[in-house]
Amino acid sequence: MRDGQWWRAWTIGVAWAVGCASSLAPPAAQVLRAGDAAPGDVIAFDQWFLPDTMRVDYFHSGNATEDRIALDRVLRDGGWAGRRTRLTETLALGLYQLQVHDQQSGRLLFAAGFCGVFGEWQTTAPAKTQWGTFHASLRFPWPRRSVDVSIQRRSEGTWRELWRTSIDPDSRFAQRFDAPTDAHVWVVQEHGAPADKLDLVFLGDGYTAEESEKFHRDVQRMTEIVFSVEPWRSRRHDCNVRAIDVVSPESGVTRPHAHAFVRTALGCQFSAFDLERYALLFDNRALRDIAAAAPYDNLVVVLNSPHYGGGGIYNDQMTVAANTPFADYILVHELGHHVAGLGDEYYVAPVAYETGLTPRVEPWEPNLSALLAPQGVKWQDLVTPGTPVPTPWGKEAYEAAARESQRRREETLAAHGDGAEFAAVLREERATLTRLLAANQFAGHVGAFEGAGYETQGLYRPAIDCLMFSRNDMKYCAVCRRAIEQVLDLQTGR
Ligand SMILES: [Zn+2]
Repeated sequence: MRDGQWWRAWTIGVAWAVGCASSLAPPAAQVLRAGDAAPGDVIAFDQWFLPDTMRVDYFHSGNATEDRIALDRVLRDGGWAGRRTRLTETLALGLYQLQVHDQQSGRLLFAAGFCGVFGEWQTTAPAKTQWGTFHASLRFPWPRRSVDVSIQRRSEGTWRELWRTSIDPDSRFAQRFDAPTDAHVWVVQEHGAPADKLDLVFLGDGYTAEESEKFHRDVQRMTEIVFSVEPWRSRRHDCNVRAIDVVSPESGVTRPHAHAFVRTALGCQFSAFDLERYALLFDNRALRDIAAAAPYDNLVVVLNSPHYGGGGIYNDQMTVAANTPFADYILVHELGHHVAGLGDEYYVAPVAYETGLTPRVEPWEPNLSALLAPQGVKWQDLVTPGTPVPTPWGKEAYEAAARESQRRREETLAAHGDGAEFAAVLREERATLTRLLAANQFAGHVGAFEGAGYETQGLYRPAIDCLMFSRNDMKYCAVCRRAIEQVLDLQTGR
């Protein structure tokens, strides 16, 4: 109840800000909950939308238990590269959901799942005692008439509305900027119109003007890596890849743990939430303003750094360090998070988040399960016949080996940094653990293997090994592959 009153108060303030007096009254339309568009309710794109992108920038603030959202601005953000069919489908992915309703009829016109930096922050230890503020953007096709835009958040298996605002697209508060023309956008591969494809855009951070050729080579290399891994390989024709040259005044990327601070165009940094290998970008507005030059569904920020790291947040952002020997793995792993909302299947490595929590509801990530559903594990149809669920898998032996690797890793890091010695330790770890996992009788099966999502107990992953679990030989498990294919199907209107 408190939440309901809270967003109503905000609706009034924000409605004024975007010049739409009609919503001063409480919203007339009943709030449609996530995923409850009327079955078969097909939204005709051209009837409701123009082929431009509306971007709603906002600040998401709060602590572990509270959310506050404040509107920053509403603007035109280039052409609409996203889907023009299946507009209200979300694949049930994401911690949050964007909903766009026609103001007059209350009809759900567009929905999309996403995660955000704020959601990550909320699960860290400092969020228990401090507040944080993060900038983020909602993007959807430009509505022809006034809409209500809302953010829903999952909460104990149901949805709670965090925020709602009204937007009149013809008002002076919806800023109709033209797409930036000074950016250099180039095509890496083009297979069709952006509306029919999944459009990936690479941007560089920490590349100086002299390093522009290196950025081009890095993008070409990374494109080939992505499309060497299934299901990306078979679906290459469903994807466009473009890149934007972004020139930084200095070379490299900020690493607070090493007291190395570098001024770069996008301001990416390692040590996000104080985890050394976690690289994120906190200047969302800078990223979006530059990215508006190219049609995109997903953005990959390539870091000109030899240090191990990256990060990927579903439908928000991803980073990958280009010059580490493990760039291949980081790229494809983070792309799984960013494009398909895949969860981390690993659980032994240290993370920034609070762990040791017993899941009370099924996680929404397609590749994680708490085995709470009465009808069985959520990927039941893919379980290899004859495989027990849960699946016994030599967990103790793996954990002992993984902890030993972890110890050596930290020892090497402390003594030598993350250079050649560290890479050697990681390579050895990969060989040992991959061998151990491959020897198991259920290797290659789909089942339910306990230990996933940073939790030793109570969370299960679909396979003994996967790109979301280990730095293995670059394969996603069958469940992860299907999840990526479903996103490709959605984005390409299949
Ligand atoms: Zn997997």
